[in-house]
Amino acid sequence: VEGFAVDLGGTKTAAARIAAGRIEERLQTPTDGDASFWSQLDAMAALLDRLGFEAGANLGVAVAGRVDGAGRWQAVNAHTLPGIGEEPLLEQMRARFGSNVVVRNDAAAATLAEALMGAGIGADHFAYLTVSTGIGGGVVLSGRLLNSRNGLAGHVGFVSSPLGEARCGSGRYGTMEVTASGRAIAAFAGTRDAKEAFETRTQKAQVAIDRSAAAIARLCGDLTAIFGLDRVAIGGSVGLAKGYLSRVEMHLEREPPLFRVPLTLATLGQDSALLGALLPEG
Ligand code: ADP
Repeated sequence: VEGFAVDLGGTKTAAARIAAGRIEERLQTPTDGDASFWSQLDAMAALLDRLGFEAGANLGVAVAGRVDGAGRWQAVNAHTLPGIGEEPLLEQMRARFGSNVVVRNDAAAATLAEALMGAGIGADHFAYLTVSTGIGGGVVLSGRLLNSRNGLAGHVGFVSSPLGEARCGSGRYGTMEVTASGRAIAAFAGTRDAKEAFETRTQKAQVAIDRSAAAIARLCGDLTAIFGLDRVAIGGSVGLAKGYLSRVEMHLEREPPLFRVPLTLATLGQDSALLGALLPEG
């Protein structure tokens, strides 16, 4: 894998120059969540410019939201990236950066990277879950990323949770996003963001973090029932936070043995979506 990659999430936008499957240089800026498509393009271009992008180089672009088979980009949760309607992402990236551009969902990219070079090595039926601003994921079955023409496959943040009790920006009720995401933790904890909830450790914050972990454990059991998973890796800044995975494991212990899928931390950390943005789908 050789070239440049961009990862545009709900909180941060990162870009990197990659050679021989390794990140040589990485830059990051906060994502302006309310920005228009054109401003997001400019923000990505500014990072690539600073990395010394040269016309014609390989470029992998991973974004939060749904990316369909034609490379159109749409926010599924209206509260994340409200400026993104139905945007011609692939077309515009190719117009600016040349024809060697691929675009995909950020969690799908991270899933590919973890499956091929990280926590999923050796697993045949594998899922990756990211607990970050929102909840994302991806499923790899016998080496192939589960994909769909509408780009929705793997969007596990919009699965409804038995613990869910609010309306989601997707329009669905009680989804994982309004129950377990970084944004949900902050809302329940009454903190500015999830990071603060982990730092303050107030009673409310603990309850919010525990609810998130419990919902993720249920989701792991559900996905195991559907796909027969033999491993799940957890990533994202919340998923990687100290103590979070062990909370999920504690809740998973309550499931019958058949549904207690082995859990592991994502091993590529914050870089998985960048590394996976350039990988072939298998
Ligand atoms: P993105 O959603 O842009 O992909 P992240 O994976 O970094 O970005 O997720 C952002 C979420 O993670 C925010 O809710 C933020 O508050 C939270 N977060 C960031 N750092 C930490 C940390 N050290 N511990 C717990 N939560 C964190």
